[in-house]
Amino acid sequence: MMKQLQKYSAPILLLAVFETIAVTLWLTKDNIFYLFNFSYIGISLALGVFLFIRQYKHARRIVQLLVGLYMLIYLGIISRENMQIEGFWYYLFTGVFEAATIHYAVAKIFGPLLFGRGWCGYACWTAMVLDFLPYKVPARPRKKIGWIRYITFAVSLAFVAALFLAKVGHIERIMFWAFIIGNILYYAVGIALAVAFKDNRAFCKYICPITVFLKPMSYFAMLRIQCDKEKCINCGKCKRVCPMDVDVTDNSRRRENGTECILCMECVKNCPRKAL
Ligand code: SF4
Ligand code: SF4
Ligand code: SF4
Repeated sequence: MMKQLQKYSAPILLLAVFETIAVTLWLTKDNIFYLFNFSYIGISLALGVFLFIRQYKHARRIVQLLVGLYMLIYLGIISRENMQIEGFWYYLFTGVFEAATIHYAVAKIFGPLLFGRGWCGYACWTAMVLDFLPYKVPARPRKKIGWIRYITFAVSLAFVAALFLAKVGHIERIMFWAFIIGNILYYAVGIALAVAFKDNRAFCKYICPITVFLKPMSYFAMLRIQCDKEKCINCGKCKRVCPMDVDVTDNSRRRENGTECILCMECVKNCPRKAL
């Protein structure tokens, strides 16, 4: 019994963290939605980790679909919450600490200090679709065009700021349509880039504005893949299967593309020496 508990301590801990967030927000904000929302996400993530421990090969994809579809369909389309970066700016400007702001605080700003870019590997609804494409491992070396992300970041901020400065009416409705059109654009650009660069994650590497938050915060992440140098035989397999070009054999925080790791575990699964 104790052994089983130890084996599954990670999903139990994950569930406990999310339940704590769920209950705290439910009670402090007097809104039962938070209990439902964070419990659902916590159960989905814990289920994924549980399946991973059981060595089920589609564990990550199941979590991605459970969380990604919930956010896109239920929160975005049915509940009309703009959960994209424009929604974050919108709620920030209105001073409302609600769904999108809480989502960004937990998943993309402070959460990465704990679990790095787990969001990108297990929950993002953009990558949920891109990961169905066939270019799982980049065919060519990474391009030096990551600066584009700062432009998309600035454009998203300028767009929402302009709506406020111009005192445009019905901003709520505009934000809903911005979410729909923004997602269609993300999918179109993401799929086009994946095909052009033969790399499912090209959008994540060069365009996504959210990485402006994710990258610096995940530099300090507590949860990181570490390499046991005693076991490693420098075969290079981990780097060959990595969708994000991370040099995971380097244990320093300055490892090559270290802030790009999405914790997909492909390197761990493929290491012949179980060194990761
Ligand atoms: S980089 Fe952006 S698009 Fe890619 S998985 Fe992360 S949040 Fe989603
Ligand atoms: S796959 Fe394993 S053994 Fe090979 S280089 Fe990577 S960590 Fe070392
Ligand atoms: S393969 Fe390993 S290093 Fe690369 S993104 Fe996935 S978990 Fe991170």
